[in-house]
Amino acid sequence: MHELVHAYLLNLYLKDELVSTSSDYEDLLNAFITFYDNMVQDTFNTLDNEWHNAMNDFVDKIGETIYAYAQENNIENVDLEYCKNLAWGTMHGNEILSESEQDNAENIIITEQNNTEYAPSYLVKGTPCE
Ligand SMILES: [Zn+2]
Repeated sequence: MHELVHAYLLNLYLKDELVSTSSDYEDLLNAFITFYDNMVQDTFNTLDNEWHNAMNDFVDKIGETIYAYAQENNIENVDLEYCKNLAWGTMHGNEILSESEQDNAENIIITEQNNTEYAPSYLVKGTPCE
């Protein structure tokens, strides 16, 4: 889902439909322009940061989508908060969560990504793929 939002915002830019309705989007638009003008690591890093700043608006929706998926697929012991944490776990360096909240979210995503328990308090949900 996270990567889909990247693709969605990139597609808006490439179609000339990325409209700056807030400073986050204006900064993102400028970062896209700067990057496509000069494709180097530095302009990419700025673009990547602005991409994630704009993505802050979508993270809770991503969590809700993961939660709907979990319910549809009978993945037990998962609640909305857990799924929102999964979504936030991909948002390193955001300025919305506190450090401990971000650590918690990242521990949850490490657990699910590796499908192994991470410390005693982070238990794997669902069953491994075969
Ligand atoms: Zn990303």
